[in-house]
Amino acid sequence: MTQINSTAEITFDADLTALNTLGIAAKAQKLIEITSVNQLKQLHKDGLFEKEQPFILGGGSNILLRRNISRTVLKISLVGITVLSEDERYALVDVSAGVNWHSLVEWAVENNFGGIENLALIPGTVGAAPIQNIGAYGVELKDVIESVTFFDLESGMNQTLTNRECIFGYRDSIFKNELKGKVIVTGICLKLTKPPHTVNSSYRSLSEFLQNKQITDPGIDDIFDAVVAIRESKLPNPNLIGNAGSFFKNPIVERTLFVALTDTFPDIPGYEVSKSQVKIPAGWLIEKAGWKGKKVGNVGTYKNQALVLVNYGGATGEELWNHALRIQKSVSETFGVELTPEVNIIE
Ligand SMILES: Cc1cc2nc3c(=O)[nH]c(=O)nc-3n(C[C@H](O)[C@H](O)[C@H](O)COP(=O)(O)OP(=O)(O)OC[C@H]3O[C@@H](n4cnc5c(N)ncnc54)[C@H](O)[C@@H]3O)c2cc1C
Repeated sequence: MTQINSTAEITFDADLTALNTLGIAAKAQKLIEITSVNQLKQLHKDGLFEKEQPFILGGGSNILLRRNISRTVLKISLVGITVLSEDERYALVDVSAGVNWHSLVEWAVENNFGGIENLALIPGTVGAAPIQNIGAYGVELKDVIESVTFFDLESGMNQTLTNRECIFGYRDSIFKNELKGKVIVTGICLKLTKPPHTVNSSYRSLSEFLQNKQITDPGIDDIFDAVVAIRESKLPNPNLIGNAGSFFKNPIVERTLFVALTDTFPDIPGYEVSKSQVKIPAGWLIEKAGWKGKKVGNVGTYKNQALVLVNYGGATGEELWNHALRIQKSVSETFGVELTPEVNIIE
């Protein structure tokens, strides 16, 4: 380990196995841990961002490392949660990019701030949350976020975008498109509710869970507990089985194609997105194509949820990627529907 400009620590030939939840044993030629925005300014002054586009790493829970990384990896470890202002109904909360997302949700529920309880137990960091507009159990980050602050790699300046300017969509934002590779998110500002909260328990498995527990008037803590319990029963713990959550996005298809598919597959589920488009659960397509729980070498799909690709141990990034391609091809041949990865594929 060396120091650059006595500000940031740099590790050469860094092992990334424990820094990606798929547990792929890739290496980075150079890894720098960022604990202050001043370090980014210093790296900009040193000309690092003119020479190369660094890879920005949060909690590594939404990436597939296909091979070793030759560019510099910046691990974002900026921490801090600050309540900026409060009135009777809302609190504006500023959170640094390196804060663990689930710890933030726990903090909010403990402090009786509402709005993100449905997003409990999503792995990763706060800084990555706006990149794909994280969502679960009927809530998306875009429902509660005021603004995103980032460091612009070209100008070396901080900038802030409002919710609307972030162009959030389903697992999408400006940071996956126009600003991809050009910025580092350093913090977000959330607008959280104060009691009495309006909770969102409309998502089917959530409302069923609450009904079974005979909770008729749930508070944000009930929603939090329910989401944690449901997720623990359904999704593999990355500490036990390497995975990156849902590997593919749920495809949105033309209604005409969906209607045609119901002839052959009468039980195919679909959710209306617009008058002309329908969203199909990718997990259903993968399961129906015969991949649920199937193991091929060191990789496979999870036994309880076909949408989750897993590393049973010792898989290479290429092995996992080839498995993803096999599934994509099989779903395309069976249904004529193209799956696109939700996980970021890192070359
Ligand atoms: C078991 C499991 C369950 C999951 N469930 C859900 C779910 O319900 N809903 C959901 O939406 N997601 C889910 N995910 C995916 C993942 O948790 C989220 O996408 C999360 O926001 C990724 O955070 P991270 O810090 O791990 O990002 P990383 O994997 O480190 O990075 C993801 C991408 O964001 C970029 N990035 C990271 N930090 C920054 C930054 N500060 N500035 C700029 N770019 C950055 C990276 O370069 C990369 O392209 C799940 C993952 C797992 C393993």
